[in-house]
Order: sequence, then structure tokens, then C-alpha cells
Amino acid sequence: MAAPHLPVADRAAVRRATLGLIRADRRLFAFVLALNSAAALVGLAAPWLLGRVIDEVRAGAGVDTVDRLAAVLLGCAVAQLLLARWARHAGHRFGENTLARVRERFVHRTLALPASTVERAGTGDLTARGTADVTAVGTTLRDAGPELFISGVQALFLLAAVFVLDPLFGLLGLVCLTPIHLALRWYLRRARDAYLAEGAATSGVAEIVTATASGARTVEAFGLGRARVAASRDTLERSRRTRLHTLWLRTVFFPSVEVSYVLPVTGVLLIGGALYERGAMSLGAVVTAALYLQQLRAPLDEILIRVEQLQSSGASFARIEGLARAPGTAAPGDAPGPAPVPVDDRIDVRGARYAYDRGGEVLRGVDLTVRPGERLAVVGPSGAGKTTLSRLLAGVDAPSAGAVTVGGVPVAALDPEQLRRQVVLVTQEHHVFLGTVRDNLLIAEPTATDARLWAALAAVGADGWARELPDGLATRLGAGAHPTDGSRAQQLALARVVLADPHTLILDEATALLDPTTARHTERALAAVLEGRTVIAIAHRLHTAHDADRVAVMEDGRLTELGTHDELVAADGPYARLWRTWHGESSP
Ligand code: ADP
Repeated sequence: MAAPHLPVADRAAVRRATLGLIRADRRLFAFVLALNSAAALVGLAAPWLLGRVIDEVRAGAGVDTVDRLAAVLLGCAVAQLLLARWARHAGHRFGENTLARVRERFVHRTLALPASTVERAGTGDLTARGTADVTAVGTTLRDAGPELFISGVQALFLLAAVFVLDPLFGLLGLVCLTPIHLALRWYLRRARDAYLAEGAATSGVAEIVTATASGARTVEAFGLGRARVAASRDTLERSRRTRLHTLWLRTVFFPSVEVSYVLPVTGVLLIGGALYERGAMSLGAVVTAALYLQQLRAPLDEILIRVEQLQSSGASFARIEGLARAPGTAAPGDAPGPAPVPVDDRIDVRGARYAYDRGGEVLRGVDLTVRPGERLAVVGPSGAGKTTLSRLLAGVDAPSAGAVTVGGVPVAALDPEQLRRQVVLVTQEHHVFLGTVRDNLLIAEPTATDARLWAALAAVGADGWARELPDGLATRLGAGAHPTDGSRAQQLALARVVLADPHTLILDEATALLDPTTARHTERALAAVLEGRTVIAIAHRLHTAHDADRVAVMEDGRLTELGTHDELVAADGPYARLWRTWHGESSP
């Protein structure tokens, strides 16, 4: 089944974003505009001078006059060439600056996406937006944008010049351009949706390929190959159909435009010829107007080709801007209110309910108060909702009803900096980032001094090997640099927890640091990290529950028992049954 895609920005939002990008670099933009206008203005001189030459010759002027006009013509051509080059250069610089802005914004927005949104939408969509879409917008900004701009200014000046020459010709030119206008409207009305569909289909292909590749073992183990191939074929077929549709739009649009180009020139020659016959107009003026209209073809062609590029990259831009509207992302208007600050370390769960996108309610009204400093074990059968509860406690997801708060503030509403001071979820994803040891640690606390970094390494027993590294904290880790084994990666992850210094840790035993080969190395480190903090352990081994201050029993999305191990055993309820079963099984 296809994952729900990330949102797409509407036209108004795309327009606002575009204007915002222009405003961000408005001086350079104004400069580009001025240079282009100058180049287009100088470009008007050639047809006009040619017309003059014709009229002068017919009036019986000598070779000198023609030579003089020819020299001016040459001068104008050189000036136009230089100005146009300069304008193009400035335009490309504007494009590059803007592209850098778009890329930066994309990165910021991607990082701001709630983890649950990315999980739901699938990484394929996000990857397609970050690669294909950003590249499409980039090419437009660098090439299409400046060219479109230059051509637009040129076309405008050419038309204006025809009007100045003779309003009748100007009018004629405009009337004859109407078919182009109509064809363009026809095309634009259909193009956006067609290109959006094409983009979505491309995302679909990326999604299915990524999913099949990353789940290759599962695909192989369950013999899903054939089903995956069929699904891929369907997705590719959808992609092919959307591409054929946009191709069809182009094959109707461009030929009708081709035909329309001939109309204004023919019109001017016919009417101009008649006027000249009657002596109402000089031959030079007719030639100049015909040349202007003939010249209009080049910028118009450019504009139409670029408009089409603009359409597809407009859709790409809408997809990039759409990230801002992903669920859980603050809208630009409502973000900067002062973030609420938790008043104390108490974690409260009140009437929390939660349902995944597919399937019924997994949590069905959970109430729980975690006492600061306690060790709370959450136990229960598989599928009871323990992991889901830990995700809500860690702020990965917000409950669909009810509240999960720390110090009175909803955990999911805390920004990442605040959240890591409060609650940290300890999992097995002890990723070593490409960079130095220092980089790997500063993620948790960007302002920490080296002394604190060493203290954190010492707390998890990692200072020994860290001191032996060739460049100390500046040693580069990761692929191609200094290798780090599993237990060192775990220690680094735990050192990050020490640096973030949250008052509460959530420990999912199923995934946390339980790799048996490395467990012995990290057990002591983990104990040091847990020291002095509130610990909520999702316990899959009951001896964790036995050692905890209190035990919460989850069954079928509800908390059914809460108390100390001894109390619960004495109560002879669900926990006592679990305990007896486990004890019976594990006793020799
Ligand atoms: P536990 O940790 O107690 O085993 P979970 O919280 O992992 O329980 O799961 C509770 C229920 O939610 C299960 O029925 C599981 O199938 C379902 N579930 C878990 N994760 C997802 C998900 N990403 N999408 C849909 N359903 C899920």
C-alpha cells in the first residue's frame, strides 16, 4: 500500500515563497533587471538602423551615410553582446544565491519534520523531493529563470518598439499573438496537475525501490520477489502514463505555437505593403516593423520553452515548499511564540489514547504518573502497547487524545533542544556520525567544553580508548576514517546521553543496548548513565521488573496494575501470573 505523501504547497504559497526569494536578494535582482533592460534597448537599434539605411538609400543618400549607419549598427551589436553577457552572468549569480537558499531551507525543514511524519510518509518521498525536485528547481533558477527574464524583457521592448513605430502594427502584432496566448492558457491549465502527478509517480518509484532494497532480506526470506516486482511494475506503469500525458500536452502546445509565429510578420508585410503603396508609410518603417516582429520569435520561443520548464519546476517547488505544511511542523505564522518551559521533572500521562494510521486504537486511555527519580518497569504481553507508550513518553509522537506532559508541558511540543534536557529515548541506534569524536559528542550539547566531553567519555568508561586515538577528540570516525566497533559506538551514544543530561531516560529493552557481545562492555556504562535519573524501562525480561521501584502492567492498550513487585505478586493479579510463568520457565 502506498504511504500517504507529504503535503504539497498551493499556488498562493508558491507565489509567496517565490516573491520571498526575490526579496531576499532584491538588490542583485534589480541590477539584473537594469542590465537586461539596457541590453534589450540596445538590441532594438539594429532593425531601426536597417530601416533608416533603406529610407536613406531611397532618398538618394551617399555611401558615407550608409557607412556611418553601419558603424553605429556594429557598435550597437557589440554593446548588446557585452551587456547581455554581463546580464546573464548577474542573472546566474542571482540564481545560484537563490538555489543555496532553497537548499538550506529544505535541510532546515527536513530536520524540523517530526520523526513520526517521516515514518508515515516514507523516506522515498522525502528523498525524491531532496534530490529530483531540488535539482529541478536549481536548474530553473540557474538557467531557465535568467533566460526567461532576459527573453521577457526583450519581447516587451520589441513589442513596445513596434507600437512606437506605428500603433497599427503594434495592434496587429498583438492580435496575431492571441493564438499563442490561447495555446499557452490551454497548456498551463493542464500542466500543473499533470506535472504534479508526474512528480508523485516519480516519488512512488523511488519509494518502492528504496523499500524493496532496504527490505531485501525480508523479501527474499518470504519469497516476496514476485509480488514486489509486480508492485514495481504497477508503479512504473503509473509513472509512464503520467509522463506520456505531459508529453501529449507538449505535442499539442508547441506545434500550435509554431504556426502562430508566422501570423504577425505576414500581417505586417500585407498591411504594411498596402500602406506603402498608398504612401502612408515609408518602406524602411515596414521593414523595421517586420524585422522586429520576426525577432520577437526568438525570445517568445525561449519564453515558451522555459514556461514549460517553469511549470515542471513550479510543481517541484510546490513539493519542496509543501514540507512546511507537514503535520506537526509549525506554520511560519505561529512558530515564534515563547516555547513553554516545564516547571518540574514530573511526567504525567492523562487519558492518553493513540491509534496508528492503520488499525484501531493501540492505547485506550492510559493514566500514569512517574515519580521523579524512580525506576519504573512497564511490562505486559507483546502487542499490549508498551513500545507505543514509550514513543509518546519520549515525544516521538503526540497522543491522539489525552496528554503526555513533563512539568505541565506536552512532551511532543518541546523543541529538540528542550526535549533532550528532559527525556531521552535510549535505543540501539547508536549511530556514529561521519566526523570527529568531538562532532559526535557535540550533537548532544553544542556548547560543551572539551573538559566536559572528556568527563562524559570517562563516565561511560570510554576515556581509555579515546585517549589512545591518534588525534584525540579531533580523530575522524566512521567509514574510511578511524573504525569504531559496536561497543565503542554504544559508549559514544551513552556519552551523548550524559552530555544531554536529561532527568528521565526511556529504555526499551527490546532494542536498547542488548547486543550480547557488547552488553558486558556497556553494562557498567549504562548503569553509570542511569544513576540519578528517572528511568522508565520497557521490560521484556521480568528480572528488570523485579529490580524496579514500581511495575506498571499493560494489557491491551490499558494500564491494569501498578505497584511494587512485592505488592503485585501479593495481589495475585496479571503480574503475579506473568511472574509465575516466567519464573517457572526460567527455573532450572
Ligand atoms: P508492545 O511494545 O507492547 O509489544 P507495541 O506498542 O509495539 O506493543 O504495539 C501495540 C500494537 O500496535 C500492536 O498491535 C502493533 O501491531 C501495533 N503497531 C505497532 N507499531 C505500529 C505501526 N507503526 N503501525 C501500525 N500498527 C502498529
